[in-house]
Amino acid sequence: NLKLYFPLYRGLILQRVTGHVRAIDGVSFSIERGQTLGLVGESGSGKTSVARALVRLYKPTEGRIYFDGKDLATLEGEALRNMRQRIQMIFQDPYASLNPRFTIASLIAEPMVIYRYGSKQEIQDRVLELLRVVGLRPEYADRYPHEFSGGQRQRIAIARALAIQPEVVIADEPVSALDVSVRAQVLNLLRQLQRQFSLTYLFISHDLSVVRHFADRIAVMYLGKIVELADRDELYAVPRHPYTKALLSAVPIPDPKVEKRRSRIILSGDLPSPINIPSGCRFHTRCPMAQEICRKEEPRFEPKGNGTHYAACHFSDKVSGTEDA
Ligand code: SF4
Repeated sequence: NLKLYFPLYRGLILQRVTGHVRAIDGVSFSIERGQTLGLVGESGSGKTSVARALVRLYKPTEGRIYFDGKDLATLEGEALRNMRQRIQMIFQDPYASLNPRFTIASLIAEPMVIYRYGSKQEIQDRVLELLRVVGLRPEYADRYPHEFSGGQRQRIAIARALAIQPEVVIADEPVSALDVSVRAQVLNLLRQLQRQFSLTYLFISHDLSVVRHFADRIAVMYLGKIVELADRDELYAVPRHPYTKALLSAVPIPDPKVEKRRSRIILSGDLPSPINIPSGCRFHTRCPMAQEICRKEEPRFEPKGNGTHYAACHFSDKVSGTEDA
């Protein structure tokens, strides 16, 4: 039940709080060790806020974040620092996440220096090993980020994230800023590293076609809440929330016969403001299936069908076509 609200202030000197941006508005999920949870939604849905709250770049307003039996939401000082070492993040834009004034060897070494990973020699050896692990040549170590392509920079960012041997990696849109031609290479690398180092991933993307080949389970987020959560294949085969169906409608199917037959939901309008969240079901202002009850009553996020599939919609059976089953 994680919540992250940012207060809005008014007044130059005597500031008063006039409202809140509800970036995360009661989110719950779990990730099994060694698995990947895909977190999907449009820009502004709160995905990145979840990532940042998990690594405590933001302190949650409410809720708990359990990691290995400890509540990350309340840890402070040395205990927080130790936990953070075990959870690392890969950011969307490899052009912005690497400081252009440092060589890539210093950038990869930095977390090891901060966390006192070993002697100078051990750190140097590990930098070269990490470069090999992510498919870059060790002789590149003394070059600067601007000497590399986007795909290579993201490999450097991945090497940096792995430097202190984390158990969990949060990848926030790791391929969105890359050319389509190199996306598959970076995704394959991430998958290979997951197997090699038994990593657990939270993989964030606005693109369901990217997550499809990567995640074990998928959570769909809308305006600060998870509206659907299911095993990957189940979610693609039987979406139970109109928003998920709309996101899936945007993913092209290569077979023209199937493409022609499938039922679609095309989204209209923009995401409402997280300052004024619509009443009842927060998706009702854009939902083509909305009824009177949707404007008044917030649907519960509850198990549907096989019990591992969760959705928050009054008419989820209608969405999935299982109404009469
Ligand atoms: Fe649409 Fe109503 Fe379901 Fe919300 S509860 S997604 S408005 S049908």
